[in-house]
Amino acid sequence: MKIHEYQAKELFKKYGVPIPRGKAAFSVAEAKAIGAELNTFPVVVKAQIHAGGRGKGGGVKLAKTAAEVDQYASSILGMTLVTHQTGPEGRLVKKLLVEEGLPIAKELYLSVLPDRATAKIVFMASEAGGMDIEEVAAKTPEKIIKVFIDPLLGFKGFHANELAFGLNLKPEFIKQFNAMVAALYKLCVDCDCSLVEINPLVLTTDNRVIALDGKINFDDNAMYRHKDILEYRDLDEEDPAEVEASKYDLNYIKMPSGNIGNMVNGAGLAMATMDIIQLAGATPANFLDVGGGASAEQVENGFRIILADPAVKGVLINIFGGILRCDRLANGVVDAAKKVGIKIPVVIRMEGTNVEQGREILAKSGLNLITAKDVSDAAQKIAQVAKG
Ligand code: GDP
Ligand code: MN
Repeated sequence: MKIHEYQAKELFKKYGVPIPRGKAAFSVAEAKAIGAELNTFPVVVKAQIHAGGRGKGGGVKLAKTAAEVDQYASSILGMTLVTHQTGPEGRLVKKLLVEEGLPIAKELYLSVLPDRATAKIVFMASEAGGMDIEEVAAKTPEKIIKVFIDPLLGFKGFHANELAFGLNLKPEFIKQFNAMVAALYKLCVDCDCSLVEINPLVLTTDNRVIALDGKINFDDNAMYRHKDILEYRDLDEEDPAEVEASKYDLNYIKMPSGNIGNMVNGAGLAMATMDIIQLAGATPANFLDVGGGASAEQVENGFRIILADPAVKGVLINIFGGILRCDRLANGVVDAAKKVGIKIPVVIRMEGTNVEQGREILAKSGLNLITAKDVSDAAQKIAQVAKG
């Protein structure tokens, strides 16, 4: 799960990580009021969307007067912000963060996240922080230092020192910085974050260390024990079909291109099916895992969600009937097809428990469903469909 910068900064504040003074605004009037309340200039007006690269896309502006706060708030709120992370369609800006502008001496990069390969928590840091960090990572990866923390040992003073020295911090910053990284470690572990990123972390001309930006992602599987963090979820920022699918515990991900809808049980089988579709010369339009123990109702809802996507020109259903028996699957598909009314070809490959009954249900349905004898046959048939 992702949250907005202003929400990440609320968590920073709670954990004692210094942030600029500021507040979220949901209208131009609110933005102006917050600007006045800050009683300082410049004021930074920032678009709040679940994507980075806002600065380069024109979603972060420095206002030197109250009139400019008004002007920038008016232009950013309601704009469709396009960044390298939003895709060409961009994202509608519905919220702003209005903050005091800080006198920046240096922009650093700092992040903390679980590292799967080592099963440790890793801090990544760089002196070359700011808006070009992706380029730094790609071209000069040696400028990014990493400090690994064994979760059984926990975060210690020497970890903080290693980071501080790696960043060439002057003595006047070390105490503040070390307290900050200890707090970030605690936040990351306490809240089951999959990423906590501050870019830039700034050193100010008056010798303060402040999180100027904030990005936090959470492990979805741990959200059941963080009801307070779940309150931060913003459905406006999520794909509507993915939100709909999550209501039925379906694992659905829309793919950027492709015209073959997929319904598969089990994530591994879904991955393999996508590969096989590509091998046959077609492109999947989505990833939909109905899960090992899917019900007929889930199959029906999955089918409905796939068919609602106008990009989908054919559907491939590939199910191994283990826990989900083939007869139940067939009933789900037939019910869904009758309710939704399918106008596009549907190829079904199924194998496993009660497969004969399942095939019979499909055959007797009177629907135009194409059955396949195995996976490669299914892929060939659906690829044929895609080519028209
Ligand atoms: P992002 O582009 O989405 O990552 O948005 P950021 O919050 O990182 O802001 C982008 C850039 O705007 C930063 O790297 C800074 O250079 C600049 N910026 C943001 N806040 C301030 C501020 O308070 N003072 C100054 N001088 N620049 C700022
Ligand atoms: Mn940033």
